[in-house]
Amino acid sequence: MIQRVAVYCSASDGVPQPYNDAAYRLGRLLAEAGIEVVYGDGGIGLMKWLAEGALSAGGKVTGVIPQFMVEQGWNNPRSTQTIVTASMHERKAAITRMVDAMVALPGGVGTMEELFECLTWKQLGLHGKPIVIVNTDGFFNPILAALDKMASERFMQPVHRNEMFTVVSEPEQVLSAIAAARTWGENMRDQARTV
Ligand code: AMP
Repeated sequence: MIQRVAVYCSASDGVPQPYNDAAYRLGRLLAEAGIEVVYGDGGIGLMKWLAEGALSAGGKVTGVIPQFMVEQGWNNPRSTQTIVTASMHERKAAITRMVDAMVALPGGVGTMEELFECLTWKQLGLHGKPIVIVNTDGFFNPILAALDKMASERFMQPVHRNEMFTVVSEPEQVLSAIAAARTWGENMRDQARTV
């Protein structure tokens, strides 16, 4: 049963409004499904919209944020719970441990780094949790094309490219994508070597 979902997304204000709207819708529908939203505790950008969407449905919103960001006043006081970590690395490890699935919305290098760490750790069999990319307005298309090239030129195993994550276009498709994700055991690391 899915109890907590991590959502990685932009910390930038001023992006086109459809991206913010998608973040709000995702937060709201996760909360409506009784799922706790775990995120980077940002009070700006898509993170803010995500949190507001979940809060609008009475959901639980847990921010995980490193101490240095709290000292900058970057934490979101609207979160229902805040977990402060010593470092960025600890933050990502804590989020990965806490959640049952991970979702990436559009973002900048911070979001991409978080998404790629989730993918790398899954590829290595360090976790087997579903990963869903919400491809609002085709935002991720260039990155998906780069992953295709990695797979076609054998920099990446095709099974990792094709089955490690799911791409959806709308937040409303996220929960069914999580439910349908391929079971991913530690042995996928070894199976993949033989593909
Ligand atoms: P980006 O995708 O580059 O906008 O970065 C988003 C990610 O960067 C978040 O998930 C956080 O890890 C981190 N981040 C950047 N700025 C902030 C902020 N003001 N508050 C909280 N987290 C932030």
